[in-house]
Amino acid sequence: MTITKKTDIRSLTLPQLKEAFVEKGDKAFRGQQVYEWLWKKSALDFDTMTNINFETRNWLKENYVINAIQVVDKQISNDGTIKSSFKLHDGFLVEGVLIPADERMTACVSSQVGCSLTCKFCATGKMDRARNLTPDEIYDQVVIIRNWAMHHYGKPLTNIVFMGMGEPLLNYANVMKGIEKITSPEGLGMSQDRITVSTAGIAKMIMKLADDNVKFNLALSLHAANDLKRNQIMPINESNNLKAVGEALKYFYEITGKRVTFEYIAFKDFNESLQDAKELLTFCKQVPSKVNIIEYNPTGDGEFEKADANKIDQFCAYLERHGIIAKVRRSRGKDIDAACGQLANKRHEEALVIE
Ligand code: SAH
Repeated sequence: MTITKKTDIRSLTLPQLKEAFVEKGDKAFRGQQVYEWLWKKSALDFDTMTNINFETRNWLKENYVINAIQVVDKQISNDGTIKSSFKLHDGFLVEGVLIPADERMTACVSSQVGCSLTCKFCATGKMDRARNLTPDEIYDQVVIIRNWAMHHYGKPLTNIVFMGMGEPLLNYANVMKGIEKITSPEGLGMSQDRITVSTAGIAKMIMKLADDNVKFNLALSLHAANDLKRNQIMPINESNNLKAVGEALKYFYEITGKRVTFEYIAFKDFNESLQDAKELLTFCKQVPSKVNIIEYNPTGDGEFEKADANKIDQFCAYLERHGIIAKVRRSRGKDIDAACGQLANKRHEEALVIE
């Protein structure tokens, strides 16, 4: 018996799908109809394609699969944040979050299964990187979370941040393709301006973003503005130190003209002193930027503690006095482990075994 591997139908472009129908002796228009089921109506099963006849649906089933992601566990936090695990076709799990705040509806999406960067304070950093997400898996998360925004809050999705699991710049091509689809008129038609890609700081890839003249926003997870401290908490800093990342950001700004956002988790007795604020100020001044001071969310290892609120306020005030736009971001969705750095699916191991 020969087993032929079925093609993931969603990896085909519209012209390719039309062509497949023509080759089969059918009309190109049929390809268009199926494409709409896949992308406009988010069909997960060929049998739901009611305007496609029985024989054609069987032909589709024999030759293709739909590798869409599926919601397996959806939780709603006291503050309205919604988190879910998404099951991928090969059994892996990633997570995505909807963060509602007044008029803003923000989707936080994953770019990889796990992460290879082992940042000490991050829950995802404790998992291995199993694989990159495909552009479609990235796109699917946005579509699902966008539906939640409408369904639960009656509002359209306004922003997308790549701050879920994984390092987006280490899955560069797929993230770019995913964003292309999210922003294209055939996809969701969202504005690039509403998208933020967050990186732990891969200098070479930040320069590539500039060379590709991207129109979306860039955030750098800084967390320490001196190499000794940053090495301690983010091993990626050993090969991409602050000088290299700073140079890359200057290049990024020169070409794109886009202001960079620095994310800075305030850890108690580690990076919240006046001296730390001064170092941060010097680093930030290299490019037009703004700073988000983030409350640390415990990930269960007891290694770090969050800084005292008054220390955070003083730190922030110092930056503002010196001409930096700085805001303190209080965390959302903590009761369901949906806050920054808490995304590490508790059923990850189980999922690997089952599939
Ligand atoms: N790899 C990318 C995107 C994922 S992390 C990056 O590093 O930017 C998204 C944001 O959550 C980053 O700013 C990250 O530093 C932050 N984060 C990670 N763990 C956290 C924690 N325990 N508490 C608060 N923020 C955390």
